Amino acid sequence: MSLIVCKFGGSSVATPERVMNVAGIVTDMYKSGKDVVVALSAQGKTTDNLITKAHEINPAASKREMDVLLSAGEQISVSLLAMAIEKLGYPVVSLLGWQAGFRTDSNYSRARIKRIDTDRLQAELAKRSIVIVAGFQGINKYDDVTTLGRGGSDTSAVALAAALRADSCKIFTDVDGVYTADPRTVKGAVKLSEITYDEMLELATLGAKVLHNRSVEMAKKYNVEIEVLSSLERKPGTIVKEVAKVEKMFIKGVAGDEKIARISIIGVKDTPGIAFKIFSKIAAKKINVDIILQSVGRDGTKDITFTVPQEQSGDAVVTLEEMLGSIGGQRVMCDTNVSKVSVVGAGMETHPGVAAKMFEALYGADINIQMISTSEIKISVLIDSEDTARALQVVHDAFILE
Ligand code: ADP
Ligand code: ASP
Ligand code: MG
Repeated sequence: MSLIVCKFGGSSVATPERVMNVAGIVTDMYKSGKDVVVALSAQGKTTDNLITKAHEINPAASKREMDVLLSAGEQISVSLLAMAIEKLGYPVVSLLGWQAGFRTDSNYSRARIKRIDTDRLQAELAKRSIVIVAGFQGINKYDDVTTLGRGGSDTSAVALAAALRADSCKIFTDVDGVYTADPRTVKGAVKLSEITYDEMLELATLGAKVLHNRSVEMAKKYNVEIEVLSSLERKPGTIVKEVAKVEKMFIKGVAGDEKIARISIIGVKDTPGIAFKIFSKIAAKKINVDIILQSVGRDGTKDITFTVPQEQSGDAVVTLEEMLGSIGGQRVMCDTNVSKVSVVGAGMETHPGVAAKMFEALYGADINIQMISTSEIKISVLIDSEDTARALQVVHDAFILE
């Protein structure tokens, strides 16, 4: 029997009508003779609302308790979808993360899936039940509930597809595929029929929230082909796979990320070992560093500047302030009014001039570049966050509309 794993995001199940719509899609697949496992998100803004509730009581709540709270959103949605499918007259069972065998590490709020014990899932499928699994959650070795990070249900779906060796993995959402930019903010964004894992991973990591970046990482590792498609219109979406059709466009997309911060340590000693000391301490705190810039030494001192996710900037500042004495620094500065705008495409390796063209577009819009970073398949710039939307539009126009 062939098996489909599908995932529906929060907006796809936001209202009773939307839940019935999803029940219709799922039962149509089941009727065509397939086994169906669904990974589900919490309804609409449920997760955001739960976070607000927590902050009203304790803005510094432990991550463990946050995970207990946030996992409740998916408990609601899976039961409601199962009830909708019952109403249509099909066999169905909803399972929480732990019941579906999701074992994770203990990094609360950003846990990684270690394995899925599939016995229960297999038993339910053997009974020909449609299985609805709560996305975004699992349990760790202490039997405590963990969550996978915002947007993590995509990763739950890909993990299920890999563990159950599904024949297809469909991620249903509120847009009909992956576009060259967020179609809600950039005019003229174009839908892609296919995109490679590497390109999608960069786009997701650089801020295109259409797929959780870990889901793409996992899809690449286990060679799971993903289709991203709409839950509201029945038409083909975008396929994410190892090798994509060669298109005329060598840039696959632009992405923006406003949730970052720029940290500077001013006046550290210009001697060997300083960067090592700083970044090993930062790494020990599990803070993700992105773009790094070091100034040329002057009068025996230099400045080091780097970017981190905004949510980790507080930790980064505290860590650095504690070190100031030992590295001879004068002060630590943190700016959260910055954002990163990137262009992504495997074709840029063979097309010179991509960086110049991006900088020209930004110059034409009078947007100042604070930092730059490049790899084989992407170029990112750090800019003032209030310029983000304009920057995305002009950079997109320069490459995609040419
Ligand atoms: P879900 O709740 O289904 O997981 P998300 O809100 O997480 O949905 O992701 C879908 C959203 O991602 C779209 O509504 C769109 O605004 C946004 N998005 C950002 N970049 C892109 C892109 N390149 N292509 C498609 N959608 C994108
Ligand atoms: N409900 C979680 C979130 O809002 C997970 C998800 O939707 O993928 O982040
Ligand atoms: Mg999402």
